[in-house]
Amino acid sequence: MKVTEHLERAKGKTLFSFEVLPPLKGENIRSLFDHIDPLMEFKPPFIDVTYHREEFVFKKRPNGLLEKITTKKRPGTVAICAAIQNHYKVDTVPHILCGGFSKEETENALIELQFLGIDNVLALQGDAIKNEGRFIPHPLGHHYASELVQQIVQQNSGRYLDEDLQNPQPSGFCIGVAGYPEKHFGSPNLKTDLKYLKHKVDLGANYIVTQMFFDNGRFFEFVKNCRENGINVPIIPGIKPITTKTQISVLPTVFHIDIPEALAEAVEKCKDNAAAKQVGIEWAIQQSKELMSFGVPTLHFYSMGKSDPIYGIAKALF
Ligand code: FAD
Repeated sequence: MKVTEHLERAKGKTLFSFEVLPPLKGENIRSLFDHIDPLMEFKPPFIDVTYHREEFVFKKRPNGLLEKITTKKRPGTVAICAAIQNHYKVDTVPHILCGGFSKEETENALIELQFLGIDNVLALQGDAIKNEGRFIPHPLGHHYASELVQQIVQQNSGRYLDEDLQNPQPSGFCIGVAGYPEKHFGSPNLKTDLKYLKHKVDLGANYIVTQMFFDNGRFFEFVKNCRENGINVPIIPGIKPITTKTQISVLPTVFHIDIPEALAEAVEKCKDNAAAKQVGIEWAIQQSKELMSFGVPTLHFYSMGKSDPIYGIAKALF
């Protein structure tokens, strides 16, 4: 079932959802299920599965020379979505990227998803490859998520890249896209970023999931700006509880977001990570309560491979 159908069925009640990462290469699917199992108590209608690009690593060979190797540390997004749907009977949302895919590979990936009974995708530009510094599009692929949205919308109306197909069937994907309450790092300003977000929605994106934020004021302002600019699709807030002391500097570096002074000070005062985790959970609970009163359709948690803080938060809310 589509994410938007789940939201309609909820009739204004806030739902619980979360994002998981594919296990590291070599790990068993059981390691992921162990992480998901406790969270099923809160009846997520859908679970997102991230996609991880290839990376370059350098291996020292016996002759002393370094060999550059391309590797995927977390392969298997599509298979994991199918495994989750099969095991838990819950819808999944695979993240699909512009980066690393030609348009034809995207078309084939979408066909596979339809065969597997997966009705949703989150269409993204994708992170730059580590060591490359900036996003470089595939020569036969898409640069921006909006172009990916356009391809999916075309496939949804039965238009494939190959125009000679005998009986092309329309796919039926519900399309999510990313939004940034504090602006995407590559955008010159919030207004320009909003213009491109609107473009994704105008082309056919059905809902927005936001980057993590720790100050609800930023989210409320973002929603207001979206509505004033004619972006009327559901906006799902992304929540990430702080779990270690270092995250107050790591998260802003990696995700280009602010940590409010009160939260940063509280975490700094913690004597260890266990104390910081408690502060992070408490902050996320308060944030979530306020977002629920605001009427958000879903609280979407970034688990980053750890379910216990999310469990603690969901237990206090649902
Ligand atoms: P876009 O919408 O393409 O925007 C990228 C930048 O280009 C923005 O600055 C935008 O303002 C600008 N822009 C857009 N269109 C144009 C245009 N026509 N001309 C000029 N500028 C334009 N990354 C992964 O690799 N794997 C994941 O699984 C993953 N999951 C994510 C989930 C969520 C909820 C979020 C918020 C992010 C996720 N990311 C993931 C990270 C994401 O891929 C990066 O943030 C990426 O840099 C931008 O992706 P986007 O889809 O928002 O890009």
